[in-house]
Amino acid sequence: MNTTIIGYPRIGDLRELKFASEKYFRGEITAAELETAAEKIRLYNLQLQKKSCIDLIPSNDFSFYDNVLDTAFLLNAVPERYTSLGLSALDTYFAAARGYQGEKGDVKALAMKKWYNTNYHYMVPEIDDDTEIKLAGTKPFDLFSEALRNGVNTKPVIIGAYTFLKLARYKGSRNAADFADAAAAAYSELLQKFNLLGAEWIQFDEPSLVKDMTAEDVQLFTSLYEKILPHKGVLKIIIQTYFGDVRDCYNELVGLDADAVGLDFVEGKKSLELVRANGFPKDKLLFAGVVNGKNIWRNNYASTLATISELRKYTDNIVLNTSCSLLHVPCTLANETKLADSCKKHFAYAAEKLTELAEIKHILEASVPEDTAEYRSNAALHSEQRSGRNDAVRAKIAALTEKDYTRLPAFAERERIQKDIFGLPLFPTTTIGSFPQTAEVKSTRSSFRKGEISQSEYEFFIEKKIAECVALQEKIGLDVLVHGEFERNDMVEYFGECLDGYIFTEKAWVQSYGTRCVKPPVVWGDISRAKPMTVRWSVYAQSLTDKPMKGMLTGPVTILNWSFPREDISLKESALQIALAIREEVLDLEANGIRIIQVDEAALREKLPLRKADWREDYLDWAIPAFRYVHSGVKPETQIHTHMCYSEFSDIIRDIDDMDADVITFEASRSDLTILDVLKESNFRTEVGPGVYDIHSPRVPSKEEILAALHKMKERIPAEKLWVNPDCGLKTRGNEETVPSLINLVNAAKEARDENC
Ligand code: GLN
Ligand code: ZN
Repeated sequence: MNTTIIGYPRIGDLRELKFASEKYFRGEITAAELETAAEKIRLYNLQLQKKSCIDLIPSNDFSFYDNVLDTAFLLNAVPERYTSLGLSALDTYFAAARGYQGEKGDVKALAMKKWYNTNYHYMVPEIDDDTEIKLAGTKPFDLFSEALRNGVNTKPVIIGAYTFLKLARYKGSRNAADFADAAAAAYSELLQKFNLLGAEWIQFDEPSLVKDMTAEDVQLFTSLYEKILPHKGVLKIIIQTYFGDVRDCYNELVGLDADAVGLDFVEGKKSLELVRANGFPKDKLLFAGVVNGKNIWRNNYASTLATISELRKYTDNIVLNTSCSLLHVPCTLANETKLADSCKKHFAYAAEKLTELAEIKHILEASVPEDTAEYRSNAALHSEQRSGRNDAVRAKIAALTEKDYTRLPAFAERERIQKDIFGLPLFPTTTIGSFPQTAEVKSTRSSFRKGEISQSEYEFFIEKKIAECVALQEKIGLDVLVHGEFERNDMVEYFGECLDGYIFTEKAWVQSYGTRCVKPPVVWGDISRAKPMTVRWSVYAQSLTDKPMKGMLTGPVTILNWSFPREDISLKESALQIALAIREEVLDLEANGIRIIQVDEAALREKLPLRKADWREDYLDWAIPAFRYVHSGVKPETQIHTHMCYSEFSDIIRDIDDMDADVITFEASRSDLTILDVLKESNFRTEVGPGVYDIHSPRVPSKEEILAALHKMKERIPAEKLWVNPDCGLKTRGNEETVPSLINLVNAAKEARDENC
């Protein structure tokens, strides 16, 4: 039985690629130096996989920015606005990735989108009616040859034709099917070239097969491969899927003339069932994704062996694989120096997952697998009672009933009470929470962390910033104020650090997009709140003003979605544990005189399952109740706000209303307020603050354009339900643009009020 992986992280163990790329962007190193840094990472990864006894090692999993963008360049699907800049090939590529502003022109980057259900983002290829899809690049060949020179005949990995055509955005009147022939020809030519180069295997990544497919989709997929596969020559082709199961096209997929099919047995709920029900062809290899490519926990060999032995009833031709590319996990545990060994032994990052694959292979080769040392020590590890169990928390959650998820009185009654007691003007103005995190704020927080300043010096500093922020908001004339979030590095990490049950890594970076990496905290044990987390700052801020001060919290679903979750208890259980902790904070804020509390669910949409049929059962049925539980215990007079980034929630609009918040603010300006029609059609009950300007850009919006946005809003939403606010938190902005923007916002709201009188 052989082993392989779908792809390896390309950022380097210590984010070397990020640092080299950023130096290149700043003009501090040359393209050749960047190329050298990249080659070093690739060769290191190659040697590591060789040393770890991976039988079939991928190439072309490396990318300077994003592998979908690489494929667009490979297939000549690059908008003319980039190619016509007259830049070098590398700089043209970076112009499409990041935009270009300089002596040769001024162009925005391609759109960026979330990669399926991960926190990785890809660049969306743009296809015009006159785009000529053809084989144009050489990167996969170059990287294959580079590895071959270094002694390894690798398996080049390429985004497959179907997935590429599905991910692209069509600017004209032609659609995916119209480009199928050209794409098939380009992929066929690619196969011919790899034949000439002496490749043995090639992997086409087709994750779009795990999404809901229509009959036309299945037709597009099969017709593409029926055109491509006859050109495979002596090459062996793997059609690789991941992030779910292929329930809409299993038989079509395994019926193609490919040599191997890759299925995900970790996230693919129905993968095993599909094999059982339909069998697996004798003439093909099954690349079985059994090692989780998304999470950081050690594999459970006993359950992996159980999966493999079940699969062996249907086929003997199995290759051990990861469930998806290891791009989504950090590189290596070797650099985690501070993590306790008692925790670390439960972890496996990318490098350790290579070892796991080799161990599983070894175990399977043994005459009595259960007798191998690797199996025994893994079984011992998994039978260990994890520290961090909290029976009180578990008992509370087990005892929850429907009424714990229900806030009383019902929305309309609360709305009436709150209108009365807050006495806010029409179109009340507010912000999303954070104010500009200046260099001074960041450096003071970091001095405090390093122990260079004392607790009291630090608190004094934060209080000073809060006082300035409150004074500024009063001067600008905002109606509902915030404290500014100066004490927070990040909206999830801050709460993770305050809560029991979380642990933090030092170097567990994962690529989010381009050179941006994130370091998610790890849910280790049962979550509980040892002490109030935000009350001190909110109460201080409220003491400085007569206007309502919003308490500011992150919601349970977002905290969980931006962490590495546990696998020994369900996501629902973890979400409810976090919800309980945040609920306690909500009640403490209320008891201490905070009358408006915002619970951010910025990432609520993010982990919505890829298939509609799984939305409720696997996600919304616990995510929405977890949010409701957070605020169901407050008094009718206490106003609950929530905030979501992106207004991409038309399809779950009922569920958003069902969160039963009193007010929701969200990003809407970049999507041109299109969400308003959906709100209107669905008779949205919650009061809304669709962001009136984009905070992702330093541009100052004029009063007139904000007023125009308000007019648009007023046409569709009853005036008494509307709030006026920016799109998102202001922490990444400077004061220079924030102050004039907010002044314009307040003046626009005032003018809208006057018009209404
Ligand atoms: N309250 C947070 C802030 O203002 C919300 C951030 C977010 O939505 N990503 O920073
Ligand atoms: Zn936001």
